[in-house]
Amino acid sequence: MKAWNSEILTLAMLLPVLLIIGFSTGYTVELLLLTTVTILARQVYQINRLERMLRQGRVSRLPETKGIWEDIYYHLYRMKKADKRRKKKLSKMVDQFRKSTAALPDAAVVLGENDEIEWTNKTARDVLGLKKGDKGQRLPNLLRSPDFIEYLHCEDPAGSSVIIQSPVIDGMMLELKVVPYGTGLRLLLAHDVTEMKNMERMRKDFVANVSHELRTPLTVLKGYLETVQDVDSMDAQQLRNVIAEMLAQAERMQHMVDDLLLLARLESRQQKKGRCVHVPELLEQLCRDASLLEADPARIQLSVASKVNIYGNEQELRSAFNNLLINALKYSPREAPVQVNWYERDGAMYLDVEDQGIGIAAADISRITERFYRVDINRSRKLSGTGLGLAIVKHVLVRHDAELKIDSELGKGSRFRCIFPPHRVC
Ligand code: ADP
Repeated sequence: MKAWNSEILTLAMLLPVLLIIGFSTGYTVELLLLTTVTILARQVYQINRLERMLRQGRVSRLPETKGIWEDIYYHLYRMKKADKRRKKKLSKMVDQFRKSTAALPDAAVVLGENDEIEWTNKTARDVLGLKKGDKGQRLPNLLRSPDFIEYLHCEDPAGSSVIIQSPVIDGMMLELKVVPYGTGLRLLLAHDVTEMKNMERMRKDFVANVSHELRTPLTVLKGYLETVQDVDSMDAQQLRNVIAEMLAQAERMQHMVDDLLLLARLESRQQKKGRCVHVPELLEQLCRDASLLEADPARIQLSVASKVNIYGNEQELRSAFNNLLINALKYSPREAPVQVNWYERDGAMYLDVEDQGIGIAAADISRITERFYRVDINRSRKLSGTGLGLAIVKHVLVRHDAELKIDSELGKGSRFRCIFPPHRVC
């Protein structure tokens, strides 16, 4: 307003001056015309300068002017500055959005109206095998899973999802979901559900295994009970045999339930450093007890080269060591010796249980610590066992920060080695 006022004031003061000079010289009209043309020329010059500046897009430096043009340039400069600030803020936001979507653990793909790819984040390129150059291509042409294509064209994809295998990462399962947004745009999200699927499979396998393992002794037990129904046709010896068999089957079921409960406890209980367990004494006791059941008490050879003990849970360690010892005796000929060694190496404590038995094939070694996994099911069942022993051993060792190493050769024997790290020594 100030600039306008001064502009009007200048004109208002100029007019009487021009009229006085005009009347005194007799050139009023010429003088007024000349002044108007001069003012007009100045305005045209300013407009031209402004147009040039706007065309070149540089309003950063204010030109030297006075009056209303100074204000016009100042306002323009302020608008440009605000615009620059807004742009900076927006580009920062876009940058942050890019960074956050790149860090997103889920894959994200923006799809256009015809399912063409508009944008992908890094995870999408990693797990769906898409490339930056795939922009504009239709996604169903690149992701050819029939389940996915069916899902993409279903009535309400946002209300459901589909699980497919990653086309690039072996064994990876992805849950895909399409969410509509904006006008005609859709966002495809892919979440890694491999672990969940594996857990689901393991749970199903576990239930199937438990039912199967319990059904076998139960069927045998039922068979014997049916025989016993006709007790009059049996003599005392036959009855005793049947009862002994039933007892053995009941014991087998009890062992399995005990082992299952122990495994569940190992999984649910929190891991603690525990007390100082006297391992040499524990091993002596275990070997002594096992020898009592052997025809040759010298079959088990215990060698304690170190008196060092370890922190842990005595009950858990007893169960793990006993399983290894029983297996060594079970899976080797009656007369073959079994060697148990407790020793120290580089500050770590080692327990080796070595036998000269049937051995384990290389392909089975990595699987024998799985629950219910048995190399030769028929033979193992005959030898009595739950198929849970080594799963317990592995769990106990993990809880004691220890490692299980298995070396074995078919027909020659096996060595199960437990390695306890130095920080477990007490
Ligand atoms: P099981 O109750 O059947 O013995 P484990 O979990 O203790 O179950 O062992 C799993 C399988 O590993 C056994 O069925 C057997 O096939 C194999 N195995 C374990 N220990 C030995 C060993 N010392 N020698 C040979 N095979 C073994």
